[in-house]
Amino acid sequence: MSATIDLSDATARPRPAAASEPAAAKRSLLGLSREDMGAALIEAGIPAKQAKMRVQQLWHWLYVRGVSDFGQMANVSKDLRAALDEQFEIRRPEIVEEQISVDGTRKWLFRFPSRGAGRPVEIETVYIPEEGRGTLCVSSQVGCTLTCTFCHTGTQRLVRNLEPSEIVGQVLTARERLGDFPDASTPQGAIVPSDGRLVSNVVMMGMGEPLYNYDNVKSALSVVSDGDGLALSKRRITLSTSGVVPMIPKTGEEMGVMLAISLHAVTDELRDVLVPINKKYPIKELMDACRAYPGLSNARRITFEYVMLKGVNDSLADARELVRLLKGIPAKINLIPFNPWPGSPYECSDWEQIERFAELVNQAGYASPIRTPRGRDIFAACGQLKSESERMKRGDRLALEAAVAV
Ligand code: SF4
Repeated sequence: MSATIDLSDATARPRPAAASEPAAAKRSLLGLSREDMGAALIEAGIPAKQAKMRVQQLWHWLYVRGVSDFGQMANVSKDLRAALDEQFEIRRPEIVEEQISVDGTRKWLFRFPSRGAGRPVEIETVYIPEEGRGTLCVSSQVGCTLTCTFCHTGTQRLVRNLEPSEIVGQVLTARERLGDFPDASTPQGAIVPSDGRLVSNVVMMGMGEPLYNYDNVKSALSVVSDGDGLALSKRRITLSTSGVVPMIPKTGEEMGVMLAISLHAVTDELRDVLVPINKKYPIKELMDACRAYPGLSNARRITFEYVMLKGVNDSLADARELVRLLKGIPAKINLIPFNPWPGSPYECSDWEQIERFAELVNQAGYASPIRTPRGRDIFAACGQLKSESERMKRGDRLALEAAVAV
């Protein structure tokens, strides 16, 4: 049985202010580059000649030790801690709900405070433990402007982009809940990789189109990959796009992370329906951008995501066309059995058909693992994310249970 966690132990750390409180005017230090953090400290009255050293101290406490309260920064004087606390915040998202699937997948519903006149917002973040790795699927937007027809998030209108602090905050909070910081312990019974880091990979594959929030995603990922902090190698960070072609070269040049493409169809006619951004940037333009992706090599292949929809995109002719399209691109194909959600217009392909499809693609030389559905019982699988409040607003909790029972 899946479980929803009692979050009373989350009060062990200083609780973030309730999201219904008025938005604090304090600036968050999370997600800032070292330069911007230094400038913010100087602006706040820290002598310029101390700024670099203070940034180093703060960076270590925030990203290596994982503290979320200035009071815990033992090598910073009491007066300075108080001054920092008065002007800045380092709080993380409020955890509204934590659910654990029978397969160990965890899903958090996070709430961020309002910005200006807006309301507090909620997003979901998912942790997928596997043998030898732990992947965190991070959201970049609240809702999405794109309306991919197989995706539950696509039915939720865009509320706003997430700030760098809110993207980094998802990583920090997940690590905190998993006990993945020094002096922290992993919750009893938690399913995590048997060795190595508990969060070893980050995929920008949660809610939203990351390339429509480019600057904030870039800032956040540069903090996540900083070698003296969270220190995730860029080869362990994957950005997934539905195909915002003009931003793809820039992503490779400026972020240097691994790329995944939400492909899902091999003809423009079908992709126009499944991934409507295709009408703007059709398959040929997308493939050209992939072929030219900076740093592309056999060691740095592009992942193509392909959701298996019964009778829609799962024929062997589709598989052959997929192989033809990807010719010359160092690629891996992730076949994703469709994960249903309430009201979804598709069915998952039959397992035998998925295997036949995979075999054909494999024979053509492309690794094409069939992604085992994870976290379906807590609605955490690919394409199923949505703010819980949105889900409840639609009154579809019962429909959810019916859908996942299929
Ligand atoms: S697949 Fe991604 S881009 Fe498409 S609707 Fe869902 S969240 Fe948006």
